[in-house]
Amino acid sequence: MKNLCWLRRDLRLHDHAALSAAVETGETTVAFIFDSHILDKLKNKSDKRVTFIYQSLQEIETLLQKKGSSLVVRYGKPEEEIPKLCEELGIDKVFANRDYEPYAKKRDALIAKKVHLETFKDSVFYEKHEVLTGSATLYKVFTPYKNKWLEKFNDSGKIISNFECNLKNLRKFENKKNILVTDWYKIIGFKENLALLTGGTKQALKRLNDFHDHISEYKVARDFPAIAGTSLLSVYIRFGNLSVRDMIRAGLEKKSEGAQTWVSEIIWRDFYQMILDSHPYVEKGAFKKEYDQIKYLGNEVDFKAWCEGRTGFPIVDAAMRCLNETGMMHNRLRMIVASFLCKILLVDWKKGEHYFAEHLLDFDLAANNGGWQWSSSSGCDAQPYFRIFNPYTQSEKFDSKGEFIKQWVPELKKAGPKEIHRPDTLLFQDYTAPIVSYEKNRVRCLAMYSAALQRDK
Ligand SMILES: Cc1cc2nc3c(=O)[nH]c(=O)nc-3n(C[C@H](O)[C@H](O)[C@H](O)COP(=O)(O)OP(=O)(O)OC[C@H]3O[C@@H](n4cnc5c(N)ncnc54)[C@H](O)[C@@H]3O)c2cc1C
Repeated sequence: MKNLCWLRRDLRLHDHAALSAAVETGETTVAFIFDSHILDKLKNKSDKRVTFIYQSLQEIETLLQKKGSSLVVRYGKPEEEIPKLCEELGIDKVFANRDYEPYAKKRDALIAKKVHLETFKDSVFYEKHEVLTGSATLYKVFTPYKNKWLEKFNDSGKIISNFECNLKNLRKFENKKNILVTDWYKIIGFKENLALLTGGTKQALKRLNDFHDHISEYKVARDFPAIAGTSLLSVYIRFGNLSVRDMIRAGLEKKSEGAQTWVSEIIWRDFYQMILDSHPYVEKGAFKKEYDQIKYLGNEVDFKAWCEGRTGFPIVDAAMRCLNETGMMHNRLRMIVASFLCKILLVDWKKGEHYFAEHLLDFDLAANNGGWQWSSSSGCDAQPYFRIFNPYTQSEKFDSKGEFIKQWVPELKKAGPKEIHRPDTLLFQDYTAPIVSYEKNRVRCLAMYSAALQRDK
């Protein structure tokens, strides 16, 4: 048998369900397609995510070369490139890990009509039909979902598969032009742009190990953006430099409350993947459809100020400037800026969701959509619409000394511990005055939501 293992969002060569099955049953070629459908839509041709992927592929190539093999790389439409590759290399069967995004599902269905494609569960721990309610329906609320997830896991004897990949069974290549020598940036029309985090399994596992040493502090530390209290693994799991099982294994090794809370976050990830897989319409609109009727009262000028970190609300501006510069944003800040956009600036959450999609290094459709729908209250298990984060008190609570704010808003470097959260604009004239009144817009928000939701009753 001649097999092709097609890497997509699983850029690693260990604990890999598709690769494991491929090398088990035949001589395997490992391939990656720079997908023109996705890349051509990216406006920023120096997108750091492309560099992250590139670095991950270079690491894979180096490992494959040590085994006498090489990564096969193409640029184009996967529905054309995969069948062409199969033809060129005489491939009998294509192996890939399942991807639950609507585009990926359509793509794979199309390719499956042209070649023999087998897909595997890999990127989540449990897929949608594996965690069901007592009446065999899908969950819509996280906590009972999580309890069932854990019950199932405990009942299974806490077994976490490790998909061994026997790299002896790889196709040998001699003198093949590879990704280490070919300038693929040029071919795909992008420029290298390094992120703070370097792509690849080596870095991912190092970060996991480092985090593991202080995982017990996570429950408390995870809420404060000025300290390194979270794992920063989201981009690595997004591109599959490590497996979800690597993460769960590490989390379960420690018995602390911190470790349990961390595993819960990974279960949130499964939950949102399940929601996207089973309710693909959420990509375009509210999970609770009545929320699509809300007439957002906000305007483009305020949206632009939010994007650029010029709202006059220090915690929001610091968070947005950090995102724009690094492609990263702490979870607490994501919740604050998302709530602020739709509930204080009264701008449609979908605009914020798209902005995050363009800028987040770890952008993942399921988690991002879930996070925005939670914040805007339109999601399945969202905060109620009348719960509106107060950016001033959130700032006091989670960045009490203003350390994070000062890092990103130099105009406020000299602000004292009280005024850093709500600066007096007479004293800090370099800093923007608040573009809206929090108190007034809170009231407008409640009216905006209740008007739409009452109408629906
Ligand atoms: C509005 C909004 C948008 C978001 N967009 C994304 C996104 O595009 N991509 C993304 O990976 N996460 C997203 N999140 C979830 C969360 O903010 C990030 O996963 C987290 O900040 C990543 O940092 P970390 O790796 O240090 O996480 P840790 O706190 O160390 O958590 C460990 C892992 O659990 C997963 N995780 C943690 N929190 C969540 C969550 N709420 N939902 C789903 N998975 C979670 C991530 O894979 C993360 O790496 C979003 C949250 C909100 C509120």
